[in-house]
Amino acid sequence: MEDIRSTIAALGHLVDGRIVRNDATFPVENPATRSPIGDCPDATGALVGEAVAAAKRAQPGWYAAGEQERRRVIGAMAEALTARLESVVAVSALEKGATGGAIEAYGGPAFLGHHAAAPLPVDVIEDNDERLVRVVRKPVGVVAAITPWNSPILTACVKVAGALLAGNTVVLKPSPFTPFATLLLGEIWKDVVPPGVVNIVAGGDDAGRALVAHPDIALISFTGSVEAGRHIAAAAAPALKRVVLELGGNDAAIVLPDVDVDLVAAQLFTSSMIMSGQVCAAVKRLYVHESIYPRMVEALARLADAATPVPESAGGSFGPVSTRPQFERVRLLLDDALTHGAKPANAGARADEGGYFQAPMILTGVRPGMRVVDEEQFGPLLPVLSFRDVDEAIAAANDTPYGLCGSVWTSDIAAGERLAARLECGTAYVNTHAEVAPHIPFGGVKDSGIGRECGTAGVDGYAELQTQYVYKKPSRVLASGDRVG
Ligand code: NAD
Repeated sequence: MEDIRSTIAALGHLVDGRIVRNDATFPVENPATRSPIGDCPDATGALVGEAVAAAKRAQPGWYAAGEQERRRVIGAMAEALTARLESVVAVSALEKGATGGAIEAYGGPAFLGHHAAAPLPVDVIEDNDERLVRVVRKPVGVVAAITPWNSPILTACVKVAGALLAGNTVVLKPSPFTPFATLLLGEIWKDVVPPGVVNIVAGGDDAGRALVAHPDIALISFTGSVEAGRHIAAAAAPALKRVVLELGGNDAAIVLPDVDVDLVAAQLFTSSMIMSGQVCAAVKRLYVHESIYPRMVEALARLADAATPVPESAGGSFGPVSTRPQFERVRLLLDDALTHGAKPANAGARADEGGYFQAPMILTGVRPGMRVVDEEQFGPLLPVLSFRDVDEAIAAANDTPYGLCGSVWTSDIAAGERLAARLECGTAYVNTHAEVAPHIPFGGVKDSGIGRECGTAGVDGYAELQTQYVYKKPSRVLASGDRVG
């Protein structure tokens, strides 16, 4: 295994096929220890401009190289990433504070590999003696890909693969809290991708704003908070830039009385507390039928008490909250809930004071109107509410501005399907939650976003659809009396 500290110290932006280090930097800390990891090069507006210019120069050649070549390169990116995956996970674990928090990185090669193997769809609408009518996918131009701190590698791979397959070039900007693993992707891909096709610039929200505002950006693919998503949509509007927005969620899971409580509790605990709850598609509100409510709460509390929120190096099994602002927010929501009558069902192991550790908390006595129920916690807090009537549970689940995912848990699959279909969200699950896969579209409704990633719908988000009419004999000229449309 390479020396991770020296790997980090040598990292820089990837611009036009070269690693570039500039003088401006910002510090990055390890949230498990609050100790510095290193100073990250901080892209200026000028450097962002250079990256966009390189992407613009490279785009026509990249598209002209043809789909097969593009898929070959995406496949080579997956292989190169696989060969250095341990290092990427190690860097990511350092900046996210836990190996468990870096699990998303393992998905990167699979998401790239899927696009390397899946041809761009062509929809043939008519093909007869007279004519062929089809819809093909063409590139949009230069894509700005902006990622959050909770899943920087997986999110980057999803965005880059989709954008490149359609013939676009990319400027990727990671979160300032977790920039190093993404810069390592640049180092890994530098000799695999033609210069300018993928550029990576590290920086804060200002660098993101400069990227979004650049006139040569044609599409912004953003994953992050609703608030930043609104700013980006507004910034994109004057030039009618395309947007794909994958935003926050406040996913509800509804548990019917016929389930095996211990089995479902274990699945729900994982779906809620994975990466210490810092997953957009994690369960964030739990609605349990009153007849099994006490047993479900007890089972969840047992699981929560078994988690140890201290650094893995000190024997911990539950990672920290990955950023200081997020840690403060989670503590604020917990304090607010306790002040307003919420009761913790588990003891909540003492947090390690050295890092941003918060024990998983199963909260009862919670109700709509409490911030911990109404807002996206994005941390290890799970409010558990009870219901008597399933229609009320569906209405409560839908009573939110968010609409990312939702689930129904039951042994009656037909009932589960019917109820899940009533959830107002981009992904409705029966007996699972928080699943994503490269071939399955994923995205939100309402405030949770615009557009989809993954699957054919995801590729379409990075493409302009062109409808092509091909007459097989010279077509007649339309007469003035002909109906059009
Ligand atoms: P964030 O919105 O604060 O930042 C995300 C990225 O956007 C960062 O790179 C940041 O520098 C940049 N940015 C911020 N403001 C910007 C602006 N005005 N213009 C351009 N760039 C800007 O989000 P975060 O705290 O890093 O991530 C957590 C959020 O991401 C949560 O709400 C979570 O639900 C969401 N998320 C959603 C999905 C999904 O697929 N729907 C996946 C992961 C995370």
